[in-house]
Amino acid sequence: TAETKSVMTLPREEVVSPLTGEPIVQYQGVTKTFGDLEVIKGIDLALYPGEKMALIGPSGSGKTTLGRMLMTLEEPTTGTILIDGEPLWQMKTSSGKLVRANEKHLRRMRQKIGMVFQHFNLFPHLSVLRNVTLAPMSVLGLSKEEAYQRAVEMLTKVGLQDKLGEYPSRLSGGQKQRVAIARALVMQPKVMVFDEVTSALDPELVGEVLEVIKEIAIDSDMAMMLITHEMDFARDIADRVIFGAEGRIVEQGSPEAIFEQPESERLQSFLKRFR
Ligand code: ADP
Repeated sequence: TAETKSVMTLPREEVVSPLTGEPIVQYQGVTKTFGDLEVIKGIDLALYPGEKMALIGPSGSGKTTLGRMLMTLEEPTTGTILIDGEPLWQMKTSSGKLVRANEKHLRRMRQKIGMVFQHFNLFPHLSVLRNVTLAPMSVLGLSKEEAYQRAVEMLTKVGLQDKLGEYPSRLSGGQKQRVAIARALVMQPKVMVFDEVTSALDPELVGEVLEVIKEIAIDSDMAMMLITHEMDFARDIADRVIFGAEGRIVEQGSPEAIFEQPESERLQSFLKRFR
């Protein structure tokens, strides 16, 4: 019928968007160029409160760069990123004029985002507990007791309650990565970015880290952006999957749509590699 036909021809993102409300993150017309190389070629993308979004695609397609821009580790060449409706790189003066953000503005915005990287970057000379309490004390100004309490709670969540006094060098890669996750969570960000967090791990350690992330995804209403090559993991926990290639979003949709009914030839051939 005409009615079903009009539904069928709606762009996929309008059909699947399950989440409403104001986006917590918005990329608007974002491009990024390194030297002569344009790695992000115009991205419009919104992440909604509580949404778990998986970003998949070939290496070099710009996924990490998208994540790093949220953390202010890279600045877009053109376009804007809004967090909670506020521009990341610009701020309003008292007279309402938009000017370039100062360090104070960036620091405040950065606190809304937590990021876990492929390499854990723990402080080797600090115990597990001190690695996790450091930022809550120095950045959020929590007392030692408050920071300790929060840190123990997060380290328990990632299953490391019996490693508080241990030093990173005595932990396995999987344990180190779980400390890094606790360290990001303890700041209570609104959005967590997980960037290929299992890529540097020995295969037998991948499972424990994905399991921890899955649990966090299930019992928290934090928004998440998961950059991953683990397709089963993406399918399991994502509300929406974004497939990007060469700096553009090629296709997006529910895990079922993306993995069972990929439309573009590019996504089809990308997925074949994981079969
Ligand atoms: P992905 O995460 O999808 O593998 P990246 O965002 O890491 O992709 O990289 C996209 C492209 O940008 C790659 O070609 C990479 O070499 C390049 N690139 C990333 N960061 C820099 C940088 N700081 N300077 C120059 N080129 C970079």
